Amino acid sequence: MPSLLWFILFLGVFLFVAYRRFSLINTTLTFTLLLAVYLAIGAAGPLWKGFLVLLLAGLWLLNAKSVRQTFLTKPFLLTYRRLLPSMSSTEKEALEAGTVWWDGELFTGHPAWPKLISAAPARLSSEEQAFLDGPCEQLCRMIDDWDVTHKRADLSPQVWAYLKSKGFFAMIIPKQYGGLQFSAYAHSCVLVKVASRSATAASTIAVPNSLGPAELLLHYGTEEQKNYYLPRLARGEEIPCFALTGPRAGSDAASLPDTGVVCKGLYQGAEVVGLKLNFSKRYITLAPIATVIGLAFRLFDPNRLLGDRIDYGITCALIPRNTPGVTIGRRHFPLNVPFQNGPIQGHDVFVPLDCIIGGMKMAGQGWRMLVEQLSVGRCISLPSNATGGAKAGAYAAGAYSRIRRQFNMPVGRFEGIEEALARIAGLTYIMDAARSVTAAAIDAGQKPSVPSAILKYNVTEMGRTVANDAMDVHGGKGICLGPKNYLARGYQAVPIAITVEGANILTRNLIIFGQGAIRCHPFVLKEMNAARDTNRERGLEQFDQALFGHIGFTISNAVRSVIMALTLARFTGVPDIGPTRRYFQHINRFSASFAFAVDVAMLTLGGYLKKKESLSARLADVLSCLYLGSMVLKHHENQGRPAADLPIVEWACRHLLYRAQEQMHGFLRNFPNRLMAGLMRVMIFPRGRTYFAPSDRLGHAIADVLVNPTETRERLCLGVYRTLEPNNPLGLLQEALTLAMQAEPLEKRIRVDGQKTGRVTALDLPGQIQEALAAGIITENEAAVLREYDRKVMNLVHVDDFDPRELAAAAPPPGDAAEARMSVA
Ligand SMILES: Cc1cc2nc3c(=O)[nH]c(=O)nc-3n(C[C@H](O)[C@H](O)[C@H](O)COP(=O)(O)OP(=O)(O)OC[C@H]3O[C@@H](n4cnc5c(N)ncnc54)[C@H](O)[C@@H]3O)c2cc1C
Repeated sequence: MPSLLWFILFLGVFLFVAYRRFSLINTTLTFTLLLAVYLAIGAAGPLWKGFLVLLLAGLWLLNAKSVRQTFLTKPFLLTYRRLLPSMSSTEKEALEAGTVWWDGELFTGHPAWPKLISAAPARLSSEEQAFLDGPCEQLCRMIDDWDVTHKRADLSPQVWAYLKSKGFFAMIIPKQYGGLQFSAYAHSCVLVKVASRSATAASTIAVPNSLGPAELLLHYGTEEQKNYYLPRLARGEEIPCFALTGPRAGSDAASLPDTGVVCKGLYQGAEVVGLKLNFSKRYITLAPIATVIGLAFRLFDPNRLLGDRIDYGITCALIPRNTPGVTIGRRHFPLNVPFQNGPIQGHDVFVPLDCIIGGMKMAGQGWRMLVEQLSVGRCISLPSNATGGAKAGAYAAGAYSRIRRQFNMPVGRFEGIEEALARIAGLTYIMDAARSVTAAAIDAGQKPSVPSAILKYNVTEMGRTVANDAMDVHGGKGICLGPKNYLARGYQAVPIAITVEGANILTRNLIIFGQGAIRCHPFVLKEMNAARDTNRERGLEQFDQALFGHIGFTISNAVRSVIMALTLARFTGVPDIGPTRRYFQHINRFSASFAFAVDVAMLTLGGYLKKKESLSARLADVLSCLYLGSMVLKHHENQGRPAADLPIVEWACRHLLYRAQEQMHGFLRNFPNRLMAGLMRVMIFPRGRTYFAPSDRLGHAIADVLVNPTETRERLCLGVYRTLEPNNPLGLLQEALTLAMQAEPLEKRIRVDGQKTGRVTALDLPGQIQEALAAGIITENEAAVLREYDRKVMNLVHVDDFDPRELAAAAPPPGDAAEARMSVA
């Protein structure tokens, strides 16, 4: 056999072994066999054969554990220990919080799809469904968002009373304490519906059900604390808030300067050992009306009243509002979305030690408590509110662009609007898929901390794009504030979601990948833990296993990446799943490329990668796209693979894959080590960039789905408040859209038989209807349909106007310039 063929055979076997992830021993055996055959019948010279035998001997030596550990692992471990950056306990706690779920699969380069596909879809119990259909609908009916946002700057007393009495603040509290004990999915669906009606109400509901006193008590509280507070919170007798952020500690919340000092003091007439608290907090949701404050501070015991420790670290306590020294009640005004939010200060506030959540045994555990619980709450509150807003935007924009005509056409038929509608529908689908599939994982017991950051960042950013597009589609109708405007407050609320629970730039640049790379990687955390193990022998053993697993893993991912890139992932195994099969394959490909790039980046840049935020942000984007793409595919499965939804699924997958590709490209373009960048480019993009953004044809198909009363439109926007009622714009828009189906053929008849023949000359629709009726072009019944349609459309198209005096925040003082202007007018 010619030498070239032998070379191809050796290379082919290497690629096969690496692609299929053979173990070290199986790889060695395979090459031993191959070399034996080659030595027997191959025609190479003795020098070349000797070289190959030496290589094989090296491979066999690697299999001898004691030799390998002595000559390779030990020296490497020594260097690794020196280079390993020290980690603060807050960083360590953040890293270890929550569980690794589908995010971990994406880091393997070979995701196990059956795990995701076979996972139970989210379902509502009959009780949860009844709550959505009953109290939740009723709440939406009661809310007058203009009254809330413009006149009252608060929810009405009736709405407050209803929220408390129906348990809206107690969705996460177990029934034994009087709460609703809803699943994560039901909790999310309630927020979706309320957010489609009022951002103020949704934010108000989200907070007590997210990270705050109830959740912290449930997981860490003493029995006495739970028995006292949880029933009171469930009944709405206590309104909670949670105060972490302050003027000096925002994103870097762990650096808070607020203190609690252990000392003796008077409490309810008796001297007890307690805490003297000094704190200054801001941006605290529900603070102005809270009755109990969950407070994060740093606990010190300078006089060692409790033991030998002086600095305990971050601690959480519950402080009753009326405790002397607490200043509370003033309000911030977040972007005209007036949910209760404000500052709190405390000066020498003395409370007994049993205010600490979980008692003294939890002193100093505050940061761990917060990051652990954030892994769940961050998946639900903001992503659900953003999804509710996006669904409402999609439902409204689709209908409005059908009923609003310009140039004798529904505006939704113009390509520019189609492009916006396609983006609205595609992004809303991704948001809905992410929040519902991830909620189902939480209900199955996961605490997915990296996905929670992925959702927080991506879903709120997509919400921002949808809000912008929906505003553009509505033109001036979206801009003019007033009771008739159903979009602008949602639009204004977007930056709030972007800022809270980890502002988005920080979340993208630091949290998703910084946490994900170490937490989800199959080997990195094991290597770090082994290197830090104080039992040196055990550490060496574990480090050895992790290191050699890691090396094989990196080689395999490089090979998988290049093969799948060359073959456009046509042959990679995925579940036999129908028309979406190719997208599963493309995610496989990117998963391998991503895993390879992560290893090269960590190997080349080490701890410096943390500082190169723009690089880790791009890797975070690739990971996000793979995660969201997986959610889209699973969501489509969960919904029974409706064929009519395929254009949106295709748009979503193409959009995400294209973005993953572009972000990977940006990562390579900016990678500081150009040699490694070149190597990665060969393994990741050997055919160049092969993915394209969704086409105009696809955009047209999706816009068509959204501007017609289709089942896909209903499925996409499922869960919004769309009941047909006089004050519900979404219900009225849907009604007008349905009427458009009857009215449009009649309008066309008037155009063709009336206007083109000169029998209809009026400029406005009412006049045209009159003339067409008189000319016998339409019947009396048809004229009635058109009149009714026109009335309903114009009612929706109209915007508000105001007496100038109504718009002033307060009446101008006499003699004021504005007063003078008005009197002249
Ligand atoms: C309406 C509202 C409600 C809130 N509710 C609560 C509440 O109930 N309880 C509570 O404790 N807190 C609450 N917060 C606080 C909120 O979580 C913080 O605003 C947020 O964590 C960011 O802090 P900051 O606003 O001070 O921004 P800063 O920390 O000043 O950040 C400014 C910018 O710098 C970016 N940035 C910071 N560090 C980095 C980094 N390392 N890398 C890249 N970018 C970085 C941020 O992303 C941001 O864009 C609320 C805030 C708002 C506005």
